[in-house]
Amino acid sequence: MNLGNCPRCGKLFANNFRDICPSCIKDIEKEYEKCLEYLRQEKLATIQEVHEATGVSVKQITKFIKEGRITVANNPNMMYPCEVCGVLIRENNMCDSCRTRLTRDLTAAVREEGGARQAHDDRNHSGAYSAVDKFRNQ
Ligand SMILES: [Zn+2]
Ligand SMILES: [Zn+2]
Repeated sequence: MNLGNCPRCGKLFANNFRDICPSCIKDIEKEYEKCLEYLRQEKLATIQEVHEATGVSVKQITKFIKEGRITVANNPNMMYPCEVCGVLIRENNMCDSCRTRLTRDLTAAVREEGGARQAHDDRNHSGAYSAVDKFRNQ
């Protein structure tokens, strides 16, 4: 039997198939019921409204959506915040613009590394040239 600390409440528990302790699983089920109950009445509710009405954290509601337990198909306004900028999205962990920016930053970082090396080479060359120039001018 493996013992581990529950990441949700910090209690020591016997690791099961879920990564949280049984009492947290129960809590989360209760939170899920609460969200569902509310969403049955308020089909157009947003994640913020569900959070305010049920007291369930936006993070937990986000999890329900990502797990497919709350679906945008049934509740079209149940979008969750982008992990980077917080804009509401329906899929992935990040909004399109953050994903584009991240990809661009990564590409830029790679290019910069190459560019720095290039600049260094150029400097060496110009150093060599000016030495030649100096020699020539003498
Ligand atoms: Zn727990
Ligand atoms: Zn974003």
